[in-house]
Amino acid sequence: MAYSDELRRTLGGELDAIREKGLFKEERFIHSPQSSDIRVEYPGGSETRDVINLCANNYLGLSSHPDVIAAAHKGLDERGFGMSSVRFICGTQDVHRELEGRLSEFLGTEETILFPSCLDANAGVFEAVLGPEDVLISDRLVHASIIDGIRLCKAQHDTYKHANMEHLEKKLQQYADKRSRLIVTDGVFSMDGDLAPLDRICELAEQYDAMVFVDDAHASGFLGKTGRGTPEHFGVMGKIDILTTTLGKALGGASGGCVSGRKEIVELCRQRARPYLFSNSVAPPIVSAALKVLDILSASTERRDKLEENTRFWRSALGEAGFAIKQGDSPIVPVMLYNAKLAQDIARDLYAEGIYVIGFFFPVVPAGQARIRTQLSADHDIPTLQRALEAFRKVGEKYGILGLDKKGIIAKYGT
Ligand SMILES: *Cc1c(COP(=O)(O)O)cnc(C)c1O
Repeated sequence: MAYSDELRRTLGGELDAIREKGLFKEERFIHSPQSSDIRVEYPGGSETRDVINLCANNYLGLSSHPDVIAAAHKGLDERGFGMSSVRFICGTQDVHRELEGRLSEFLGTEETILFPSCLDANAGVFEAVLGPEDVLISDRLVHASIIDGIRLCKAQHDTYKHANMEHLEKKLQQYADKRSRLIVTDGVFSMDGDLAPLDRICELAEQYDAMVFVDDAHASGFLGKTGRGTPEHFGVMGKIDILTTTLGKALGGASGGCVSGRKEIVELCRQRARPYLFSNSVAPPIVSAALKVLDILSASTERRDKLEENTRFWRSALGEAGFAIKQGDSPIVPVMLYNAKLAQDIARDLYAEGIYVIGFFFPVVPAGQARIRTQLSADHDIPTLQRALEAFRKVGEKYGILGLDKKGIIAKYGT
């Protein structure tokens, strides 16, 4: 059908419906490099404002780190801008293989394969390895890209209640006759900042002869004593059969992802994974910068230690100020507001106070679970966080939510 006036009206109507529900996402323009302090232009506003950034995945503050930028320049000079090819035709440079080796070493896995993004890694890995004789058993809150990957895979699929090990065990028993069982989870859940209980998951996997898949996008580089991620935090490095992660968050923040784990699984991805076979190689400047990031992280734990210190300060400060925050061990600290409009209003007022945060609401989080997700970075310092705290306190007071728990906030504002 041609793009008729009728179709235009239909699609326009869908956009209107999104706006009317207050769910329309506007993008803000950032006029500076990514950092803990950025210059932002709000939609509709003609002025920019310098703000403290509390919503980037720039956990280690490496997105604009001078050594990382210098390494990217070096990669650009020595290996060029782009590959103009997928990996298996003429898109594999020495540095791609070097980075795959270094990632395996860092993550404590047998082998690694780069993908254009972690979304692509998740989209490609299941279909490449599993078939109708297998079953995928996933946590109900896994990342959207994992759900896409599962949809593309012919294996049977079932879910277990979020982080509920009794439920997972039941499912493992239920599928005992399958060729293989793959437990699928995020390492850190990005909306709540809680961790999957990988120690228990690995025990169950052993007991019921299952494999374990972990997406560690929100953990690689900083969780665990030396930043190796959720498996290190739980003492199960080497036991994860498939680990996916991103170079687009703590590990430099540009783009690129990988599947890391059992040798044969990684090799099957090289042979069959469609986003690997049919999408361009990761650009040389990114590869070069990622190698530098791994150098930095292997030389010292200073950055992840600083992030941990900032996280501890921020969690206790917000809690003491009377905000309803989600408890956890990660630098993702959600301030619960339950009501979508309230979350947006508070985010707007915080912006006026020089604090950059975003309200999250349905469909990004379940309806009635609206929140402002704050994220810490090693780039923050305590005085900066203290300033941010003052702004939060001022705005929290204005809305009369300090000291209120879930019930109190919902009684006042509804969901
Ligand atoms: C961000 C994220 C991804 C996507 O990573 P990209 O490399 O940006 O595609 C995948 N999984 C999880 C859990 C994420 O948080």
